[in-house]
Parts: sequence; C-alpha cells; structure tokens
Amino acid sequence: MSGARLPYLTSRLQGFGTTIFAEMTRLAIEHDAVNLGQGFPDFDGPDFVKEAAVRAIQEGHNQYCRSAGLPALTQAIAEHQRRFWQLDYDPDSEITVYGGATEAIFATLQALCEVGDEVVLFEPYYDSYLASVAMAGAVPRLVKLRSPDFAYDPAQLEAAISAKTRVVLVNSPHNPTGKVYCREELVHLAELCVRHDLIAVTDEVYEHLVFDGEHIPLATLPGMRERTVQISSLGKSFSFTGWKIGHTCAAPALTRALRSAHQFITFCNSTPFQVAAAEAYRAPASYFTSLEATYRARRDRLCQGLAEVGFDVLTPAGTYFIQTDIRALGYDDDAAFCRMLPEKVGVAAIPTSAFYADRADGKHLVRWAFCKTMPVIEAALERLRALI
Ligand code: PMP
Ligand code: GLN
Repeated sequence: MSGARLPYLTSRLQGFGTTIFAEMTRLAIEHDAVNLGQGFPDFDGPDFVKEAAVRAIQEGHNQYCRSAGLPALTQAIAEHQRRFWQLDYDPDSEITVYGGATEAIFATLQALCEVGDEVVLFEPYYDSYLASVAMAGAVPRLVKLRSPDFAYDPAQLEAAISAKTRVVLVNSPHNPTGKVYCREELVHLAELCVRHDLIAVTDEVYEHLVFDGEHIPLATLPGMRERTVQISSLGKSFSFTGWKIGHTCAAPALTRALRSAHQFITFCNSTPFQVAAAEAYRAPASYFTSLEATYRARRDRLCQGLAEVGFDVLTPAGTYFIQTDIRALGYDDDAAFCRMLPEKVGVAAIPTSAFYADRADGKHLVRWAFCKTMPVIEAALERLRALI
C-alpha cells in the first residue's frame, strides 16, 4: 500500500495507488526493457483454441450468454475438475464463469462478507485480494509466509482467526513466492475451517504449473467440499491472459450467493471466448504435460542464470515466478532496485514488497516471471550480467 491521497476516491480505496504490474510494464516499455515483471506469456495459447474463438465469432456467438456462464463451458470445466482433481461439480448449479479470476475473487468477497467481517489472507498476497476485501467493507487479517521456505507459523494463523472471521483466502500454487502448500498445511487449514465454520476461498489459477510436490485442491480434504469456493482461470493454464475467463466451483447454496453478486458486476463475460474456452478445458492430457515440461525448462534456465549473476535464488515449486534475495548482490531495497533495472540494465522485474502490507517485510526480494520464450529469457540474462 502506497500512493498519494486521490481526490474523489472513496476512503475504501485510498492508498492502493497504481498496481505494481502497470507501473513496471510502463517502465519496461519506456526503456525497451525485457519484461520479466508482469506475469503474462509472450506467446499465445494453442492454435485449436484460437481457431475455436474465431469460428465462434463467425458462427454468430456474439450476444450475451447465460449469466452463470455458457453451458458448454461449465460442462467442460466440470469434466476438467473430475479428470484432474477427482472433484464432482454439477455444471448447472455449482460452476460459474466470470471476467477472469480477478472478478471471481471480487464477486466472492462481495457476496460472502458483511461489512466488518474478517478475511484471513496470507502475505505476500496477490494484490487484488486486499483491494477486494476493502471494497467489500471487510477487514483483512494477515498471516505471514516467511522466506526462504515461505511456510506459515500455525500459531500465527490460529491467532488470526476470531469470531468475526468469515473467509480464509488461500492461493496455491502461490503468487508471488512460487510456494505450493503441502498436504500437512492444507490439512491444518481444513481443520481450522471446519472447527471455526469458515469458508475457504482458494485461488488455484496456477493449478497446472507445479514442478515439485503436487497440487492438492483444498476442496478434496474432509469437510471442505461444502465450504470451499474454488477459483481458477483460463489465463495461466492456456496462456490467454487477455481473454479474462475465470470460474468458481462451489456447493449450490454458496454458488447461489456468488451468482447474486456476479449478475450485477459483469452479468456475463465474452461469449465467443467462452465457446473457445470450452474446447481448451477438453484439451488432451498431452497438452498439460507439455505445458508443465516447457515451463519446467524455463524455470530451470532462469534459476540457473539468476544464480550465475549472483542472486540468492529461491527455486519455486510452482507458478511461473521466481523469487530472488537481492542482498546477495549488495542491494537491500527491492523497489529502488526494480525502478533502476529497466533503465540501467534493460530488464524489468517486480519488487516483492508490493505484495506485503508492511513493505519492510519483502524489501530484500525481487520476483522474475518466466512465462517467456527461451530467447527472451536468454536476452534478459545476457543483460543482467551487467550487474556482476
Ligand atoms: N490470482 C492470482 C494468484 C494471479 O496471479 C492472477 C493473475 N495473474 C489472478 C488471480 C488473476 O487472474 P485473471 O487474469 O484470470 O483475472
Ligand atoms: N497476475 C499477474 C502477475 O502477477 C499480473 C496481473 C495484472 O497485471 N493485474 O504478474
């Protein structure tokens, strides 16, 4: 949280400033830097999905669709959930489509939180969480994930839960650390949710980008199917971040609440892209294994290269982000480092302190995105050698 006080803006949104992604991408463009900052692939998703979108437009799928999402897409998401996570969701009463995971998170918190309710968040957190909590009039309760392993302290989590807690929001695989919550942590979280009658909101947009360990949806643990809102997005798994198609899977009573909010936020989102997304979720197993293998190679190369430059690299188990400790190179202020980098070195990255309420907590860390083609990663590493 930073940023000057803005006229007109409601107090709920004061202090959030401009997102760090927009700021760093602007600097990257200004200095013609290789952008390893904002997490968007520099390549497109599969041709069969693009062709399906073009066909959908030409065939006239161009008007509003059902607010809950195109039936073909909710059906395809249900099949995907069964295929990968052995979770059975009814496409009509339990699956809803939104304008990206961002809207899914926003709508979920709008739907579930009374003003003054508390939402437990793990920090560093994806930046829209805190703003969505604020816009819902809810109150964040923060639990720290500490470098280098980004484990949480169970006692701190337990202390963050009060009689006012409504939601625990968990993101695994985790942006910006690359942490994949292990079974022991998820079992602990599930026990707390059941014991305190809490709703878990799980952001699983990186569900297919796990390199070490395994992705375990919280909803698969005992007692959690009925109290979890599981969120994911087409953007990461299919490299179409600009299409902004996200979804929730949740029990019927929860889903009815979420849809009440969603109908008045966007009502529905782009129909032809939903037609194409339905094709994407039906992709053969080979698509997902090659996605993981390609990203693993990029992760390994960027980790190795960053270590050669002299950073202390915290190898991520999942996502397409790498954390580095910049103190190894003699820097101690991530924001100053990331503002200097595009102009002086020709590379952009993201200061991790932007994902903490107290910036001092992340000041020694910088995040690098590897959702880039190998030549772009090589070009960034070549430029970064100037730091040696
Ligand atoms: N959650 C996390 C953890 C993310 O990293 C992102 C975006 N990269 C989102 C949500 C937003 O997803 P979408 O683009 O589908 O809104
Ligand atoms: N989620 C992307 C990231 O973490 C950015 C999304 C955005 O620009 N809002 O880099």
